[in-house]
Amino acid sequence: MSDDDILEEAREAFQLAADAEAENRREAQDDLRFARLGEQWPERVRRERDLEGRPCLTINRLPAFIRQVVNDARLEELTATQHREIDNRPPPEVVATLRTTAARMEEVRRILGDRVISVSSGYRCPELNRAVGGARTSAHLTGHAVDFNCYGFGAPVDVCRAVAGSSLAFDQLIEEGSWVHLSFDPRLRRQVMTKAPGGRYELGLRL
Ligand SMILES: [Zn+2]
Repeated sequence: MSDDDILEEAREAFQLAADAEAENRREAQDDLRFARLGEQWPERVRRERDLEGRPCLTINRLPAFIRQVVNDARLEELTATQHREIDNRPPPEVVATLRTTAARMEEVRRILGDRVISVSSGYRCPELNRAVGGARTSAHLTGHAVDFNCYGFGAPVDVCRAVAGSSLAFDQLIEEGSWVHLSFDPRLRRQVMTKAPGGRYELGLRL
């Protein structure tokens, strides 16, 4: 098969997928305009009122409800683990911390241009922390730490640079190589570190 044939086949497959997704995407964009951007007046009515010089007032009550649902989803994300055999449900005091951590991760998402954040590890019960070889004093044990990537933004070092350069309050920000570790331990020391070859932690970020 020649390169052209492969490209042609790929283009056809892409078009097929795009067509199949088109309606779903259009509806999602409609929802976003309505719920997030508050464009809640029907186009025709809005135009008439514009002509007559009457205002179109929108009191958008949806974001508050959406935030409730999204926050619950974030809590799920912060306790998920591939170690299915371990019961990683957090105790009540950790749930409270996780709510704060989730809210702060929303700030991180904004810093990263509202892109999708992929969490690989949040809260770890002692058993899970042992299973993944976490430090004994890990901030993951208290629900203060999150390991994540933001693939749409860039490599972990790019993410670290953006977070370090923002005004976000954090305790430790570590470029771990293939992910970012960010902790909101109340000490909030704003320590920035890089995991060097050999596993040592060095202050600062690589260039
Ligand atoms: Zn971590």
